[in-house]
Parts: sequence; structure tokens; C-alpha cells
Amino acid sequence: MKQIRNFCIIAHVDHGKSTLADRFLELTGTIPKEKMRSQYLDQMPLERERGVTIKLAPVTMIWRMPNYQILNFKSEIRNELQVQSLKSQQDSEYILNLIDTPGHADFYYEVSRSLAAVEGAILLVDASQGVQAQTITNLRMALNQGLIIIPVLNKIDLPYLDLGARKKELAGLLNVKEDEILLVSAKTGQGAETVLESVIKKIPPPQGNPNGPLRALIFDSVYSEHKGVIAYLKIVDGEIKTHDKLEIMGTKTKIEAQEVGIFGPGLIKKDVLNTGSIGYLVTGLKDIKKCRVGDTIIKFESRCCEATPRSVNSKLETNLKFKIEPLPGYQEPKSMVFSGLYNQKSEEAEKLGRALEKLKLNDASLFFEPEKSATFGFGYRCGFLGLFHLEIIKERLKREYNIDVITTRPSVAYRAWLKNQKNFIEIRSPEKFHNDFERVEEPIMIVKIISPQQFFGGIVELIKKYRGEFLEQKYLTPESYLEKFNHLIIEAKIPLATLVVDFYDKLKNISAGFASMSYEFFGYQKADLVRLDILVAGQRQEPLSLIVYRDVAYYEGKKIVEFLKNNLPRQLFEVKIQAALGSRIIASEKLPALRKDVTAKLYGGDVTRKIKLLEKQKKGKKELLRLGKVDIPPDIYIKMLKG
Ligand code: GDP
Ligand code: MG
Repeated sequence: MKQIRNFCIIAHVDHGKSTLADRFLELTGTIPKEKMRSQYLDQMPLERERGVTIKLAPVTMIWRMPNYQILNFKSEIRNELQVQSLKSQQDSEYILNLIDTPGHADFYYEVSRSLAAVEGAILLVDASQGVQAQTITNLRMALNQGLIIIPVLNKIDLPYLDLGARKKELAGLLNVKEDEILLVSAKTGQGAETVLESVIKKIPPPQGNPNGPLRALIFDSVYSEHKGVIAYLKIVDGEIKTHDKLEIMGTKTKIEAQEVGIFGPGLIKKDVLNTGSIGYLVTGLKDIKKCRVGDTIIKFESRCCEATPRSVNSKLETNLKFKIEPLPGYQEPKSMVFSGLYNQKSEEAEKLGRALEKLKLNDASLFFEPEKSATFGFGYRCGFLGLFHLEIIKERLKREYNIDVITTRPSVAYRAWLKNQKNFIEIRSPEKFHNDFERVEEPIMIVKIISPQQFFGGIVELIKKYRGEFLEQKYLTPESYLEKFNHLIIEAKIPLATLVVDFYDKLKNISAGFASMSYEFFGYQKADLVRLDILVAGQRQEPLSLIVYRDVAYYEGKKIVEFLKNNLPRQLFEVKIQAALGSRIIASEKLPALRKDVTAKLYGGDVTRKIKLLEKQKKGKKELLRLGKVDIPPDIYIKMLKG
């Protein structure tokens, strides 16, 4: 009988998840050797180019394990007769459903959804780096889901490793014996087979009810131009066959299963998806909003029975038996940074909207709503899990939809209270901010930093500089274990607004690249904020407005005004560049006029023509001055927003 094991690989970014998955694909013969390429499961061009996983990627592998290997770990089998009988049986076949996950903090939502679809996780740690912040965050998520953890140290082919210390560290973290820590080199393949054996031995098969009514969890969904909406499913109970009449519970959408299958990792058609398996369903839907991740799919009949309870007792009982509870689903991810996205070809704003909708199906953590800007026209205010997420979406829009977007300065979401009002309004763009709110609160994050001890002083300084509050420090593993090798976990509260700027880069700088960090939302805290406006020739430049702390408003204003003075093209007239808080000007510069010699192109002596031109120039100047309008080239905005 084929047995199922569902698992994922979790780790800090770059610790070798996708490379270990490669070895599994090879070992199981899922991908023939000649077709193998490194980080095979990173299928998006963007992932391949950047060498980073941003999408979860499921794959089904068949693993034939010779029975003598099972003997190795079935320690309960002692009887010689049992051994003989096992040896004579056919090799056992296992269906291994693996989900590769991203490691970057901005893509934690992909990880959390993967974890909900499996029973166990390989926790991979780069032996040259040791446990990092994201290792701990992902581990905690996996433990919260009740998953079995298989701890593995990777990259053991590298020189100068202190494997003893790393084992202690990981064993200490998980509270297991050191000999439970497996060692692999995902690069050479050494130890990879032992990891698969351990997956089979330690991770339990899925526990669903094959005879019960269907319940399938949508853990991802993608939009395909040919097939429409494709849902990625874990079949928790029951089964799905092609042509089954189904319903998506949350959105009450009726569908017919047009095709079902498994991931190879491409789509491989099957007749049926059984209990416990991971696969896909072509829903036939075009409206992508109806197939939300986290929702539960059931058989249509189940819903009918539940919806029409009848008075006859026995029938009522049957109906009750059919009442199906939706699966737990996921917590909606919370957007952390917001930015306005505008199509550079402003007449094609609609195209951007459609593209965002499709991206959202692939990436449920993306938020967007329409917005109008005086400068850029119609666009969308979008919410992201972090700046890296924003960058990836921007690139995907370009690659997958051929849309060049302008992004406005990222901002976090503030809460603002008007005078004498009980409810706050959420402010996601400087445009909606004004300077007479009674109270404003900003989002605060709990930041966990893991670092070698010698950088402690520098890190605490850095936290202060970013308006954070140091909370505590402790050793990563019980102190006596590792002495000076031991790393510290430093906890702090830092405002999201300063954190997203470049805290991570600075942390890497002061710790020679050794410190890592993860963060999560803590809550809101009162902050003294103002909106800083930039005026060019007396006109407020909407995309340049920003929300800043009052005590740095002057400094920020001066910086921007000077930048513009040095970067704006000169005009035919003098241009005033100012920074203002409300009606109060706090910084001002003058961009001198450009005296363009309009007569330069005229050679020789036609004096009347020269005079005519000069007259025309004078008139033009007057008109421009009257309008006071200066066209700011879009690349200045872009350059500025990059800081
Ligand atoms: P992921 O971000 O966890 O998926 O990591 P990748 O699989 O993309 O690997 C990150 C980098 O580490 C790549 O450059 C890999 O070639 C490298 N790498 C992965 N496993 C090993 C290993 O066992 N030994 C060595 N030397 N390098 C490895
Ligand atoms: Mg990867």
C-alpha cells in the first residue's frame, strides 16, 4: 500500500531549502538527471534570477524504500520470523508531498499556509551560520501547528565548521538529544537519503477520514490564462474526482471539478485526489475573488443537506451528520507598508488594476484599493508585508504584465483621532494626513535579533537611533552549553516606520553580517507626527509629501529642498523650493533661472528676427511665471523616493 507523508522544509533564507529539495527530486527520480537544474522548485524567472524563493512550491515524489531499511528503524521488530517476512515482501512505496517555502520574513504568509497543509517539517540550519532569527520564527510557527520537527544541519561539506557546537545549539533550541540532529550536504547529497528515511519514520501519515464527507483546504491558488483559477488543495477528509460537484464554503460558490491532479512539480492530471493528498483542482472559475486561500471545499450535496433541514426526526439526524465544519483557515496577513502604484502610461490605469487582481490570487498577502493622485492620475494604494515584498510585486508587474509602475514613498498605516471623536481613522498615505489630529498612533514591532555577543553594544545603540526601546537580552541556548560561542537573542520594540527604512542593512553592517532579525507586529503607540509638504514654485508637490516625526521635520525638509535644488532642471525663471508644515515654511531654497539663449542658433545679421524671438521668450516667461507651473520629471520623483 502506498503511504503518504506531507512535509515542508523551513529555514532562514539561504540555508539551502531549495537545494535540499533538489536532492530529494533526484533521489526519488521525480526529475530525470538530465533535466535537473539547481533550485528546481524555484520556477518563477524572478526567483531564478535572484536565487530566492518567494512562492511556496509543492511537489509529489514517489519513494521506494527497500524493506531492509525499514528494519533499521522498526526497532520494535525483534522476532526473526517477522524480519524474514518483511524481507520477502515487496519494497514499501511512499508518496512524499513536499512543499518548499520561502525564507524571507516578508513571505511568512507563504510559510504559514504551507505549514497548515502538512504534518511535519524539516528544520534546516546552515552549519556555517547556525540558528538565525528566521529559523526561530519559522520553528515557532511550525510548533504552533503541532508539526513534527526534523532538525537538520546543512552544508557540512564546507570547511572550518564546528559541528559539535552547532549540534549543541540546535539540540538545545529544540530540547532534543544531540544525536537526533541529522547532518547533510544539500550540495553533494551526503546524508539526504537519511533525511527522507527520517521523514517516513518520524512524521505521521495524514489522519483524515477517507469515508467521511469531503473537506479540502485551499492553501494556495493561481490564475492560469488557459485553465482559469487553479486551487492548491490538501484533501483533509474524503476525496475529489473529476466532474464532482463542489462548493467553496466561505464564498458559497458552486463549481464542478474540471480537472484534478498532483504536482510533478508541473500539473499532472489524475482521476482522483484521495484523503491526505496534496494536489490541484481546476475550478473553472474566472472570478478570482471566489477562490480564497484558507477556504474549505466540500461536496455540493453536503451543503444541500445542511441547508434544508426537515422536520422528520430520522431525516434531521441524517442532516446533522452531514453538517460540515469548515477547516480553520488562516489569519489574514496584515499589510505593513503602503505605497501608491501608478502605471507610467497613465491611460492604462485599468490594466494595472487587472494585473494586481491576478497577482493577488497568487499572493494573497497583497492588498490594494483605487486611489487618485493629482500628479499621476488613477492608481492603487497597495499594502505589502515589507519593502522586499513591494520590490518583488513591482518587478512581477513589469515581467509578467509588462507594466512599468511608479511607486510613491512607502508609508506605514497610522491611526488618527479627530478632536472629540471616539473612532480612529486609518491613514495609509500622507495625502490623508493633516496636522490637526488630536492624537496619532504608529505601529510598533517586536524585533528579535540573534547575534554573536561582541556586537551587543552596537546593536543597542542602533535600536536607540531608530527610536526603539531595548527590552531584553538572553542566550540562545542554555548558557553552560557553549560559553563564548553562544549567541544572544536581543529583543526590542521598534516603530515600523523607522524599521522599514534600512534597519536591517545597518544591523548587517555593524555585525559584520552575522546578526539576523525577525519581527512581528506588537501594537500601536502614540507618536508625535506631522505632514511635511514640499512646494515647488508655490505649488504643493503631492507625491513628495511625507509623514515625519515632528522633531526631525526641519532636518528632513531641509534635506529634500536641497536635493531638489541640486537635481531639478533649471527653468526659464527663478523657482522657489520650500518645505512646509501646514502654512509654515520651514526650509527654502531658490533654483536660479536659466537664461536660455534662444538666438544662439541664428547666425548672421537678421536683427529683426532676433528681436522677435527675444520678445516671444519674454512673453513665454511671463506666462510660465503666471501659472507658476514647473514640470517635475518623473525620474526626479523616482530618484528621490529611493532616498
Ligand atoms: P534557500 O533560500 O533556503 O532555498 O537556499 P538555496 O537552496 O537557494 O541555497 C542557498 C545557497 O546555498 C545557494 O548558493 C546554494 O548553492 C548553497 N547551498 C545549499 N546547500 C549547500 C550545501 O550543502 N553546501 C554548500 N557548500 N552550499 C550549499
Ligand atoms: Mg529557496
